[in-house]
Amino acid sequence: MPDIKIKRELLMILLELGKSSHPSEFLALLIKNGDTIDEFELAPGTITGSSSARYQPDMMPLGTGISGSAHSHPSGAIRPSDADLRFFPAVGKYHIIIGAPYTEDDWRCFFADGSPCSVEVID
Ligand SMILES: [Zn+2]
Repeated sequence: MPDIKIKRELLMILLELGKSSHPSEFLALLIKNGDTIDEFELAPGTITGSSSARYQPDMMPLGTGISGSAHSHPSGAIRPSDADLRFFPAVGKYHIIIGAPYTEDDWRCFFADGSPCSVEVID
C-alpha cells in the first residue's frame, strides 16, 4: 500500500513549475482530498529570489486541507535539507521535493521527519 496518492496531472504541473522557476526554487502547499493529493496553492509568502524559496510563516495563514508541501531543488539533490526538516512539520505530513532537470523521475516524497514516503501516481 502506498502512503499517499497524487494525481498525475498535479504532479506534472509541479514538475513544470520547477522547470519554469529554475534556477530559483518554487514552493507550493499541497491539499489532500480523501487519500489523494489533488490540489495545490502557491505559497503567497514565497521569496522567489535566487537563493531559496524559504517559507515565511507569519505571511501565510494555513488554510484547511493543507497536508504538506512541494518545492524544488535547482541543485538536483532530491533530499531534504536541514532547513527543510525544520520547515516540514509546520506545514503537514507529506513533502515532495523536485530536483533539476525536473523530469518524471526527478522527485521524491518525504514525511515531515525526512523519512521516505511511498506515493502512487494516479490518473
Ligand atoms: Zn529543500
